[in-house]
Amino acid sequence: MANSVFGHLDEEEILQQAERCLGCGKPTCKDNCPAATPIPQAIELYRTGKTLEAGRLLFQNNPLCLLCSYMCDVHTQCEGHCIRGRRKRIMPIPFWAMERQAAGAYLKALLGQEAVPSQGQSVIVLGTGAEGVAAALLLAQQGRCVQLRNPDGTPGVLLARQAAEGNVPQDVVFLYERLLAHWGVQVSAGTPSDEAGTATLDCRETGQASPGRPAELVTRAKQKVAQLLTES
Ligand code: SF4
Repeated sequence: MANSVFGHLDEEEILQQAERCLGCGKPTCKDNCPAATPIPQAIELYRTGKTLEAGRLLFQNNPLCLLCSYMCDVHTQCEGHCIRGRRKRIMPIPFWAMERQAAGAYLKALLGQEAVPSQGQSVIVLGTGAEGVAAALLLAQQGRCVQLRNPDGTPGVLLARQAAEGNVPQDVVFLYERLLAHWGVQVSAGTPSDEAGTATLDCRETGQASPGRPAELVTRAKQKVAQLLTES
């Protein structure tokens, strides 16, 4: 199966690729995404110039969508199962490029919007990797007062390691750090002592995602956050 080059495409090339999407009713791209990203709908929004709406759709499904556009092994997931790539030498749709554009634009737009005022129960999220950051963003979006803590004592979010290892550009990690700060999420090191009126969500990623599948961690975070919100 042909694959796109996981490298640079300019905006015109990305739009040309978006135009090639068939908008499948039973999208095999989505079926093979660990986050079940609504890929045809996002591509359609992007294709028709609604970049921020595409970004919002992607972010609401997966707050780490921008990170995933760099880290996912697309050749075994969405792109690798795109129906357009079924014939040899025909390029599948490089959805990662549209996701990267739309998610990046939407994250920047969020930084210009007022944060949701904190209300309800405070939550300490343990673990500052992808699962913890996703959970913190989901909870902050719901107006919860969130503290993100790294029990192993490392300051800052562990996402920064991905930038240090060259998997993700530094400015993408900065964007997530700025969004956490903008939404009032406090990031610190250390294990919490019992704090009255505060719930704890363990996102220490004891069961790591498969390599190249960070969306698995986001899905796990969504499940944990949904359970916490149901119980509280
Ligand atoms: S499988 Fe390919 S052509 Fe079909 S909706 Fe997904 S990206 Fe578009």
